[in-house]
Amino acid sequence: MKFTEFGFDERLMEGIDASGYENATPVQEQVIPLVLQGKDIIASAQTGTGKTAAFLLPLINKIITDPLVNHTNTALVIVPTRELAIQIAQHMEGLSYFTSVSSIAVYGGGDGNAFVQEKKALSHGADVVICTPGKMMAHIKMGYVKLDGLKYLILDEADRMLDMGFYDDIMFIINHLPAQRQNLLFSATMPHKIREMARRILHQPAEINISISKPNEKIVQEAFVVYEEQKIPLIKFLLKKKDFAMVLIFCSSKQSVKQLTRDLQRAGIKADEIHSDLDQDKREDVLMQFKSRRLPILIATDILSRGIDIDNIDLVINYDVPHDGEDYVHRIGRTARAAAEGTAYTFISPREQRKFLSIEKLLGKEVTKAKVPEEFGEVPVYNTTPQRSSGGGGNRNFSKPRRFNNNPSRGNGK
Ligand code: AMP
Repeated sequence: MKFTEFGFDERLMEGIDASGYENATPVQEQVIPLVLQGKDIIASAQTGTGKTAAFLLPLINKIITDPLVNHTNTALVIVPTRELAIQIAQHMEGLSYFTSVSSIAVYGGGDGNAFVQEKKALSHGADVVICTPGKMMAHIKMGYVKLDGLKYLILDEADRMLDMGFYDDIMFIINHLPAQRQNLLFSATMPHKIREMARRILHQPAEINISISKPNEKIVQEAFVVYEEQKIPLIKFLLKKKDFAMVLIFCSSKQSVKQLTRDLQRAGIKADEIHSDLDQDKREDVLMQFKSRRLPILIATDILSRGIDIDNIDLVINYDVPHDGEDYVHRIGRTARAAAEGTAYTFISPREQRKFLSIEKLLGKEVTKAKVPEEFGEVPVYNTTPQRSSGGGGNRNFSKPRRFNNNPSRGNGK
């Protein structure tokens, strides 16, 4: 689904374009229309599914199109950790860049300066406050936080907040909010205690369940961080190093499938290709050879990543990083089927690192980075530092902090 179909304000569409988003993720497709309609929501969605934008986008749209909003702590996003608060604030900054919506991240562990800045923002009012529970509660107790104009409450990673013992702090904050508000609750899991909390906080919520399948535990996953031009030599090296009986190699485009097949064949490696340019007979023939083990190496586009029933594949290679976490899980799921063990290698070029990082986030684990043999020379460094969106820097007021400094009249909530 394209973002243009949600009917968002043009200023927000600019931020979406600038963030490089084209199509909505499944969780966004489900959540956004319901938030726009004003419904309360309980959604089970993990990190990596695009859940942050799923609530930020309709929130920003509502704030910029609602003439009655008083821009004084209109929305409160409560999260378990400062890292998540910072990450969401950065997201917010990117998406709201072309709008006048302001935001602030409020979290523990800052210095006196940060506290003063937070106090100023909370008493004069930012549109969106992204906070950790303990720090927000501390500010509320001081008495200067204006919450009477609040319209939206978002609890993100609610299960983690409860695991960290934040229940009382969250309820303290909620007891200071206007009763008339829209509530969104996101949680990776839905244990009983989350449902119980939801019952107390949400009003007739719509329930959304986006569960991502996890890869089979028996698959040994490794990744090689390389330059694009090192991929083909590395494949040849790996295929010669160990005798794999059945190897499935995935490429994201037909062109790469064809190129790689030619290169391996030229190197005397018995490999063949399957993709949508081949007619049905040819596809079936290649598949039959592979299944009957006459062909040890098959190179494929994603047409083979789902639903194809081939057991005993002992190695899957992702010649390039799959489009998203779901594709990754489906591709590597071709191995270690039917009680067998399997290995999955993924090659990551520098421009694919960000994509692989978000897949790791979705899986909830870091995939082991295998050592590339020294004879391959210098290899890139895997950069795990999250990329910042435009601007922001080390500033705690991520989204146009000028708003509360330059426009004090807002501080009266008028
Ligand atoms: P989240 O699940 O919110 O942590 O998002 C995971 C990653 O997906 C983040 O890096 C987002 O910037 C990115 N993302 C979110 N929505 C989209 C989209 N519609 N298209 C492409 N990337 C997205």
